[in-house]
Amino acid sequence: MTTTAETNISVIKPRIRGFICITAHPTGCAKHVQEQIDYVKKQGPIENAPKNVLILGASTGYGLASRIVAGFGGQAKTLGVFFEKLPEGGKTATAGYYNTLAYEKFAQAEGLYAKSINGDAFSDQIKAQTIDTIKKDMGKVDLVVYSLASPKRVHPTSGTVYSSVLKPIGQTFSAKTLDTDKEVVKDVTIEPANDREISDTVVVMGGEDWQMWMDALKDADCLTEGATTVAYSYIGPEVTWPIYRDGAIGKAKADLEKAAAAISNSLKNKNVKAYVSINKAVVTQASSAIPVVPLYVSLLFKVMKEHNVHEGCIEQIYRLFSQQLYNGNVPALDEAGRIRIDDLEMDPRIQEAVRKLWGEVSTENLKQISDFDSYRKEFLQLFGFGLEGVDYEAPVDTTKV
Ligand code: NAD
Repeated sequence: MTTTAETNISVIKPRIRGFICITAHPTGCAKHVQEQIDYVKKQGPIENAPKNVLILGASTGYGLASRIVAGFGGQAKTLGVFFEKLPEGGKTATAGYYNTLAYEKFAQAEGLYAKSINGDAFSDQIKAQTIDTIKKDMGKVDLVVYSLASPKRVHPTSGTVYSSVLKPIGQTFSAKTLDTDKEVVKDVTIEPANDREISDTVVVMGGEDWQMWMDALKDADCLTEGATTVAYSYIGPEVTWPIYRDGAIGKAKADLEKAAAAISNSLKNKNVKAYVSINKAVVTQASSAIPVVPLYVSLLFKVMKEHNVHEGCIEQIYRLFSQQLYNGNVPALDEAGRIRIDDLEMDPRIQEAVRKLWGEVSTENLKQISDFDSYRKEFLQLFGFGLEGVDYEAPVDTTKV
């Protein structure tokens, strides 16, 4: 990035460090948001949509898609909470900051209410600030989307800092993985999490904070009669189970599922329904950090595209709202009471094809038998790079979209 000392105007290029890009492009992020809005508008409006929606984790990935579907598919007022870095000293902000500026700009242009709170959603202070805003601007909310993905949590009562790990439980896990930077398929070996790491991961990514949010909203009388809340989770195929479903993060997700039942139960007087929606594997900042997943996703993209059933965050969440939660539908739940929008990913034909490719994939055939090119393209787009129609040679202002 070349920046002139006295201004925030610069030409911004991607700077990738492992599984993260440390720069973000304001115009590109805005284009990415615009494309998702266009998709939703093309699908058509959602009937009986929620009117006042709180989205926790609203700036990227599944949370941003939820905000876009609620706002542009259902004309909802949206209040978004997230944790993003602001632009500073010539450095770009994080992508979620630009995504949010863009969302607010596009929403306001159509007369749609959109406000945002940038801070630690795990804290009492941000919960209080959010509740103040709801009371002032919305009265009550009828949908709460819980879409936080965080590596750490400062516990609001003790102040203890907990960190989550992406590790198996019980035994060492060895599998193929993809070094997305070097484009090399190699073996990875991950030692199992110890008991402390497992319980800390549950504190960070489990259901306690979701429950705290719902309790705080109930105590402040900010939930409508019959309100809905939904949190997102993942199951995926067996190749990822040791690191995901059966690993430390899986324990946290099991805890999230328990919280859904506890929330529905504690709010039954208000007829509030809490759901966990099992979503498909997509490229987001959170999923890029999980060993094995980028290789699986590259193979999955290839197969799902061949079967014409490829989906990203926006397609998934439009389907969640239009086919499960609203449009006069009652969610179809699996045997464990969860919504399944991972049905296309988990279709046995898709999984069988991916399993076959998984056995064959190597550095040499990566580009032929997987859709790694799309994986990388989508990864860069998370940070606003590689969007059509954006002039990446032009200097841009890092403080606005
Ligand atoms: P993401 O990294 O794109 O988004 C995470 C969001 O959480 C961002 O808005 C970020 O600002 C916010 N956040 C993180 N820490 C915060 C904090 N302390 N306070 C406030 N906001 C904070 O992640 P994602 O992949 O969209 O994940 C969202 C949910 O979807 C997670 O529960 C994840 O497990 C689930 N999920 C993801 C996938 C996938 O393939 N990516 C699949 C199924 C389910």
